[in-house]
Amino acid sequence: MEIITIYDNIANDPQFKTDWGYACVINHPKKRILFDTGEHANILEKNLHTASIPIKSIDILILSHLHSDHIGGANWVVEQNPNVTVYIPDTFSKKLEHQLRIHCSNIIRVKKSISLAQNDFHIILTKNIWIKEISLAITTPQSNILISGCSHSGINNILDEARKYIKQDILTLFGGLHLLQTSDQNITKIAQKLKNSYLKKIAPCHCTGDKALTILKENFSDDFLINGVGAKFNL
Ligand SMILES: [Zn+2]
Ligand SMILES: [Zn+2]
Repeated sequence: MEIITIYDNIANDPQFKTDWGYACVINHPKKRILFDTGEHANILEKNLHTASIPIKSIDILILSHLHSDHIGGANWVVEQNPNVTVYIPDTFSKKLEHQLRIHCSNIIRVKKSISLAQNDFHIILTKNIWIKEISLAITTPQSNILISGCSHSGINNILDEARKYIKQDILTLFGGLHLLQTSDQNITKIAQKLKNSYLKKIAPCHCTGDKALTILKENFSDDFLINGVGAKFNL
């Protein structure tokens, strides 16, 4: 299995365009999944092209939460690939869902955590007081991974929910951890909690923030994986 960061505000491979937002592609033997779309369809299109991923080859689109830096390219995706199956948290407005339905009829509102594709993929639903979001856990014989868009519900809460749902430990974490406004002291607490859970490797990006990236790197040392747009991970 391979994960490619296809949209990110952190630069990595200079062939890819850097822009605020997040998206990644999961190349799994069973399904090709696009997790989020970034903000701008033209940048998503360019980066998918650079990664040689035809939009029509995507089987599943997961939209983590309703912020535009994660779903801005969604209309373009369903327009280009009406056969894709789209998963959205059930806080999406009817209007947003309706826009997607103009091109695509396979839209699934996620009301609780669910498993797909013979239990290899698990969509984990979490919420804080004002937003619901979905994260993707993937279980493979090699590793259990979790991909989170913005972690508005708190990354440790999301991991707890994922572990509870899949009844196994998460070993590798990808995505945005939303620690831009968090104090150094609290980031250190979060990093230590992550480290003390069974998490082995961490590949944060997007809204994690420079301070948090530094503190996480100190805590995870060689198990901190450098992420950013164009980064590829073989798992
Ligand atoms: Zn967000
Ligand atoms: Zn975001």
